[in-house]
Amino acid sequence: MEVAIVGAGIAGIATAYYLGIEHRKSSVFLIDCRAPMSYTSAQSGDNFRNWWPHPTMTAFTNDSIDLMQSLAIETGNLFNMTDRGYVLATRRADIGDLVAQTGASIDIEVFSTRERIRKNFPALSNDIRNVIHVKRGGDFSGQQLGQYMLERFREAGGKQVRGEVTGIRNGDGYSLEVDCEDGKRIVQAEVVINAAGPFVKHIGEMLGADLPVKNVYQQKLAFDDKLGAIPRDMAFSIDLDEKRLSWTDEERALLAEDADCAWLTGTMPAGTHCRPEGGERGTWVKLGWAYNQRPSEPERDLLNETSRDPQFPEIVMRGAAALLPSLTPYIQTPPSRFVHYGGYYTMTTENWPLIGPMGPANTYVVGALSGFGSMSACAAGNLCAAWVCDSDLPEYAAHLSPARRRDPQLMAELESATSKGLL
Ligand SMILES: Cc1cc2nc3c(=O)[nH]c(=O)nc-3n(C[C@H](O)[C@H](O)[C@H](O)COP(=O)(O)OP(=O)(O)OC[C@H]3O[C@@H](n4cnc5c(N)ncnc54)[C@H](O)[C@@H]3O)c2cc1C
Repeated sequence: MEVAIVGAGIAGIATAYYLGIEHRKSSVFLIDCRAPMSYTSAQSGDNFRNWWPHPTMTAFTNDSIDLMQSLAIETGNLFNMTDRGYVLATRRADIGDLVAQTGASIDIEVFSTRERIRKNFPALSNDIRNVIHVKRGGDFSGQQLGQYMLERFREAGGKQVRGEVTGIRNGDGYSLEVDCEDGKRIVQAEVVINAAGPFVKHIGEMLGADLPVKNVYQQKLAFDDKLGAIPRDMAFSIDLDEKRLSWTDEERALLAEDADCAWLTGTMPAGTHCRPEGGERGTWVKLGWAYNQRPSEPERDLLNETSRDPQFPEIVMRGAAALLPSLTPYIQTPPSRFVHYGGYYTMTTENWPLIGPMGPANTYVVGALSGFGSMSACAAGNLCAAWVCDSDLPEYAAHLSPARRRDPQLMAELESATSKGLL
């Protein structure tokens, strides 16, 4: 059986890995017009967690973390998987709903007194009244993990094709037209797997499938923390509260007058997050805030995206300083060395992935991985490979497949959920 995978991001690579290593398929073509892992997968914060508002996503990410942990053991932790967990901080006194939301299968510890919060999370702002520490979480190097899986895939006989899939014809099997540097090439395959990240809808259309996804651009700021504001052993920390940014009266008045900036004076969404990058001896810090909600068409060059907000570095610094006051000096004197970057969250409205049969015979999708594609890649690839090879599927397989969209009861439940686990 010949299999063509379109896309060599973390999803396509993980699928190729499980097809080649677990299912011993040797005729697998991994096609990409870019270098492997160089598009969305290169923008990831590489954080992982099993904290989700729905048990399906918890089971899915738990499986992925299990798979990553076994690869970490196999490789001597080549991809630097850590286990500091996630720190969820709030100024709310009553967090009963948040604790209930985490469900029984998520190991958490709650810190509710000022003394315990200060002792365990000294960098957090004094107004934080409750902290939920989600134990099963941390970070890892997605690039190293992807590279390792890619090498193993190649050793198992997998083939890579560098070129853009411009059309797919269905006759006796599938013929994929691939625009390569040295001209057009046709790749023949019985099975096509769509792992095209933000272009998953486009590839779906080539096969006659209409995938219900949108792309929303989200940004990050990485900077050299010369002031040593963030403790090097701080866990990934998230502000669970909506907030208004701290402007002087004069700044606020100026912003309010400008139609493009007035929104910055209003209530901003929750979810500002921060963690040190590069280990205990490093000096860099990453900040993120997925506040953009406007979908856009994916740009080939991620820096050309119109939703890219030149004010983001200042906005995210102001947001993060509300949780971590030691960042406040950077508001007046921004870091001298920083990188402002971003990529698309390719997502369904319910923020669950699409993994499984795509519609047309022998076509599959592994996509819509939103802001959780690095952490879930192993389970996503393993699941997609199991669908292709008709082997045992986990209980959540039907929930994560495109077919769930035909279940009105499930969809109504998911669409009406107050939290969709978006960070
Ligand atoms: C700012 C940001 C922060 C994030 N942080 C985290 C995080 O902390 N933890 C986490 O788990 N996830 C995170 N994510 C999400 C994660 O990065 C993505 O879910 C994941 O990388 C998606 O992988 P992918 O393989 O589906 O897509 P991609 O990496 O985009 O790969 C798709 C590939 O398909 C190729 N392709 C598309 N069309 C064609 C074509 N016609 N022909 C040939 N090739 C084609 C592209 O070139 C590309 O290489 C973050 C995402 C962003 C944007």
